[in-house]
Amino acid sequence: MRIFDPHVHMTSRTTDDYRRMHAAGVRAVVEPAFWLGQPRTNVGSFLDYFDALLGWEPYRAAQHGIRHHCALALNPKEANDPRCAPVLAELPRYLLKDSVVAVGEVGYDSMTPEEERAFEAQLALAQDNDLPVLVHTPHRDKAEGTRRTLDVVRAAGIPPGLVLVDHLNELTVGMVADSGCWMGFSIYPDTKMDPDRMVTLLKQYGTDRMLVNSAADWGRSDPLKTREVADAMLAAGFGGDDVDQVLWRNPVAFYGQSGRLDLSSGSESGSDYAGNTIKRG
Ligand SMILES: [Zn+2]
Repeated sequence: MRIFDPHVHMTSRTTDDYRRMHAAGVRAVVEPAFWLGQPRTNVGSFLDYFDALLGWEPYRAAQHGIRHHCALALNPKEANDPRCAPVLAELPRYLLKDSVVAVGEVGYDSMTPEEERAFEAQLALAQDNDLPVLVHTPHRDKAEGTRRTLDVVRAAGIPPGLVLVDHLNELTVGMVADSGCWMGFSIYPDTKMDPDRMVTLLKQYGTDRMLVNSAADWGRSDPLKTREVADAMLAAGFGGDDVDQVLWRNPVAFYGQSGRLDLSSGSESGSDYAGNTIKRG
């Protein structure tokens, strides 16, 4: 089984997690930029973080046979802080980097005007750079937040196929399915979606445009949740091809739109990150 976690914050995880993820089948991840718990106080703090997502973290992942790409953005929460918002002016040069496969996470947290301005500005940046966008939806008042999110996406004129709307649940999946955007589900130990609820949604909505992630970070979360969903799908009667579509081919198709997804580099195990055997000699 090959697994691509399309949303995981590895910077806050240990090398043991990388080892366990690889053992569970994870061969590729996308790490979106987010907040750090402790508020940032200046733009330089973002730039060091972006550099870590472009340099140190892919190196750490590669040591465990996992391919690492990132999405960069000013996150919704810190869009409200005037000390942080100026990072928007620094983003264009970062979005040119090879391993940046999307703009993200952007979107609403508390649905303030400042968040909306940063969201719109970054949708425009994504269009300028021909990049897909990873959109976070608020954890409070999720239905209204998701509706407004889709309004902003529509008004921006960005093709819905370039937009992944994340952290969905039973209340919000329908409107995103109708929008033409990709649907993301974060599987957590005790909130949001769990593997069985995810399987129910896959039965109801099918496997197209559906992505499953662990969104693991420094909070209570588990980077092996993607594998749990795969196992739950098989137990519920889905075939191996369905699992491969949701846990591998869908994230590859979505982030592949960047033209920068590179899954071909060999690992020490003799197979590449896509699970294909490398022909040697
Ligand atoms: Zn996140």
